[in-house]
Amino acid sequence: MRRALRGVGASRGIALGRARVCQPQALAVEETRIEAGEVAGELARLHAALDVARAELRGLRERLHGALAQEVGEFLDLHAMILDDPELLQGLDDLVRTGRYGADYALKLQRDRLAAVFEGMDDDYFRSRREDLDHVIGRVHAALHRRDNANGAGLSGEILVCESVAPSELAEWQARGVVAVVTATGSPLSHSAILARSLHLPLLVNVGDLLAHANDGDAMMVDASSGEVVLEPSAEDLARYHARQAQIGRERAQLARLRRQPTRTRDGVDIRLYANAESREDVAEAHAQGADGVGLYRTEFLFLQRRELPTEEEQFLAYRDLVLGMAGRVATIRTLDLGADKADHTGLALRSEPNPALGLRGVRLSLAHPALFLTQLRAILRASAYGPVRILVPMVSGREEMLQVCELLEQARDGLAAEGLQVGPVAELGAMIEVPAAALGLGDIVDLVDFVSVGTNDLVQYLLATDRNHESLAELYTPRHPAVLRLLAEVFAFGRRNGIPVAVCGEMAGEAANVPLLLALGLRDFSLHPSTLLEVRKAIREADLGSLRRRSGTLLRCHDRAAIERWLERC
Ligand code: PEP
Ligand code: MG
Repeated sequence: MRRALRGVGASRGIALGRARVCQPQALAVEETRIEAGEVAGELARLHAALDVARAELRGLRERLHGALAQEVGEFLDLHAMILDDPELLQGLDDLVRTGRYGADYALKLQRDRLAAVFEGMDDDYFRSRREDLDHVIGRVHAALHRRDNANGAGLSGEILVCESVAPSELAEWQARGVVAVVTATGSPLSHSAILARSLHLPLLVNVGDLLAHANDGDAMMVDASSGEVVLEPSAEDLARYHARQAQIGRERAQLARLRRQPTRTRDGVDIRLYANAESREDVAEAHAQGADGVGLYRTEFLFLQRRELPTEEEQFLAYRDLVLGMAGRVATIRTLDLGADKADHTGLALRSEPNPALGLRGVRLSLAHPALFLTQLRAILRASAYGPVRILVPMVSGREEMLQVCELLEQARDGLAAEGLQVGPVAELGAMIEVPAAALGLGDIVDLVDFVSVGTNDLVQYLLATDRNHESLAELYTPRHPAVLRLLAEVFAFGRRNGIPVAVCGEMAGEAANVPLLLALGLRDFSLHPSTLLEVRKAIREADLGSLRRRSGTLLRCHDRAAIERWLERC
C-alpha cells in the first residue's frame, strides 16, 4: 500500500529502489522458543545467515576502492573477525540447541551477553567495540529475514532504511551499490550528512515512523531535495519521479556551462569559491568545477574507524596528494577536529562525555596530545613543499590556544629543517571561528593569524545553544537568526578593516539561497562542497552586490527569522 513519509534532506538527490531495512531492532526481538524437532532446522537457518553475512563482508572488502578504502577495510576486517569468534558462535549454538531459543532470540541474548562484557571493560577502545558487535549482529539478523537476496548477491539499487547511520557505514553501503539512505533519526548537519554529500549519496534524515512502515524489499522513492519518501509508489508518483529526474538532468547541463565562467557579481566584483573536500574524489571535483582552491580539508576522516593513529608518512602522503590535486591552487588543511561526537576508535577522544560539543575536541584535543599534533603539523609542512598550503585550526576559543599552536608549528618547522626534510615557503596559519568567544575576540588573535574561516555549523550551535545534531531542535537551529547575522557582519567587517581574509566554510555557504544574505553582510570568500559550487556561482553571477550592500542595514535590523526570509524574498 502506498505510504508517504516526510523527513529532512541531508544530501540532495533522488532515488528509486528497493528498501533494505537495516539495524532491524535486534534488541527488540521477542522471545521465541522452539521444539526439540526444530533444533536442526533452526541451526541450519542460523548458519546460513552467518554465511550470508560473511559473504557480504568478503564481497564488500573486494569491491572497496577510493579514498576511504583503507579505513573502511579495517572496519570490515574487524567485523569479519567478530563473526568468526568461537565464543560468539558456540554461544549461539548452545542457545538454540540447549536453550531451545529461536535463532533471532539467540542472537539477541548472545549480543546482550557480549555487550555487557565489552561495556564492563576499563579500556575505552574495547568499550567502543560494542557498536561493532551491534553492526555484526544486525547484519546476521537482516540476513535471517531477507526475503530476496538471500544469497547475498546483487545488492545494487537498494535504499538503506535504518535508525541512524555512521559516516563509515555510508561509504560501505555505497560501495555495495546502495542508491540512497533514509534514517529515522539524525540531522542534516551531522558528519554523516557531510560525508553523504561528499559521496553524492542522497540522504534523508529524521523520517519519523520510518521503521514501523518500511519492509525489506518494498519499492521506495526518495526525494532528498523535497524531503519526501514514498513506499510502494503509485503510477503518478513514478511519473513525477521520472519528470523530476529529467528536470535535474536539464539543470545539471545548464550549470555545467558555468564551469569555466568567472565567479563575478552582475556589477563586476570577483568572489572566491573554495571547496570543502574530504576525499580524493572531492578534490578532483573541486578542480573540475573551477574552485579557487580547497578552503577546508577535514583531516579527521584519516583518523576514523581505525585503532592505530595514522603515521606522519601516511598523513604526509594524503596531504601531498591533496596539494598535487589542486595543481597550484591553495589547499587549506584543517588540523584534527576529533571529539566524543565522532566515531573515534583511536582512543584519543574521550569515549563518552556529558557534553561532547563542549568537551575535549578540536584544538583542545590536539594540544592535549602535543606529540600527535606535532606529527600532523610536520606532515602538513612537508606537503607544503608541493604547493600552497594553509593550516586551519578548529575550535579556537582564545589567544592562549593560538600561541601554543604557533609554538608547536615553530617546533615542527625547526625539527624538519634539522632533519633536512623539505618544507614549502611559510604556510599561512588561520583560525576557525566557531566559538562565539573567538568571533568576539578576533582582535586578540589578529597578530597570530593570516586568515580566518567561519565554521557556521558550530558557530550557530554555540551562539543559539542548539545542538546541531538534535532532530527535534531542527527548527531552532538556523543561521537565519538575527544574532547570527549580526555576528557574521561584525566578523566580515573586522576582516576588511584589518586586511585579514575571512571565509565561511560551514554548510550555510553551500546553499545558493543564502548567497544574497552572505554577500549583503560582506562575505567575499565562500568555502563549500563542490557538489553545489556551480549553483552558488550561478547565484553570485545573478547578484548585484552594490544593491545588496545598500540593503544590509535593513537585513541587520530584522528581528526574527520571518523578517530575514521576507528580506531574502525581495532579492
Ligand atoms: C563548521 O563547524 O562549520 C565546520 C565547517 O566544521 P565541522 O562541520 O567539521 O564541525
Ligand atoms: Mg566545526
